[in-house]
Amino acid sequence: MTASDWLHENFDPAGSSIGFRIKRKLDEVQSPFQKIEIYASTDWGNVMLIDGAMMVTTRDNFLYHEMMSHPALFTHPDPKNVVIIGGGDCGTLREVLRHPGVAKAVQCDIDEQVTRMAEKYFPELCESNGDPRAEVLFDDGIAWMKNAAPGSLDVVIVDSTDPVGPAEGLFNKAFFESCFRALKDDGILVQQSESPLVLLDLIKEMRAEMGKAGFTTFQTLPFPQPCYPTGWWSCTLARKGQGFDFREADARAKDFATKYYSADIHKGAQSLPPFVSEALA
Ligand code: SAM
Repeated sequence: MTASDWLHENFDPAGSSIGFRIKRKLDEVQSPFQKIEIYASTDWGNVMLIDGAMMVTTRDNFLYHEMMSHPALFTHPDPKNVVIIGGGDCGTLREVLRHPGVAKAVQCDIDEQVTRMAEKYFPELCESNGDPRAEVLFDDGIAWMKNAAPGSLDVVIVDSTDPVGPAEGLFNKAFFESCFRALKDDGILVQQSESPLVLLDLIKEMRAEMGKAGFTTFQTLPFPQPCYPTGWWSCTLARKGQGFDFREADARAKDFATKYYSADIHKGAQSLPPFVSEALA
């Protein structure tokens, strides 16, 4: 193997890099929003990059998609109307639809090309797209949420790229105000909140912006995600005053398989390392 057989993402904020040994490049498209590349790797299946940032690998995406969906859905008393902003690879949508009580799951990604590439190179993530409860839209999530009916949603999942480019506006007070308005009083907002190891300030900032929008209770759940910078990622939940006790019996009795999420993993993720809990206090 030569150096050219390795694909790296350099993550400037952390002065770190993540690399995968690759067999060949499979595809590339420049959409009106971002550049999407697909590679075949030797050990991690297919790899998707968006604007040079690792998005999805066949091997480890389950960690992220399960933790972006099940903790929030088992924390909500009875989630029926769920919206995913972003999530164009469709993996989060698949997990949401595993919950039989969900009546409608809307996925609103700004870039149709992400989903078209996922359909070709990650078909397993798109297997639920035909579910009658699913609605796959291509629109700016900022505009969509602004126009959402007040008090209409149980859970909003923001499965976006990093806060740059089209996703920048998904991390500020204005967007969180739209989410606050669209969510019912017992609703839950959950957003991918980057690496607790090197982006703790961003998590603090996100929670502060959510607070300015009216949310008053927050929970950040770390989880492993090898293909993202530092390999340690997180999601942050926000509510309108309620706590984060989850339906543990329902989680234990779930009738669908997961590879990472479990009631014990959920409980464990709620115990933050001291340096994280102190920073987020
Ligand atoms: N797991 C990835 C991560 O944590 O970085 C995110 C995966 S998903 C592919 C990210 C998606 O966010 C992309 O498909 C991108 O098109 C979408 N996105 C970015 N900005 C958006 C916006 N304003 N509205 C809707 N979708 C957006």
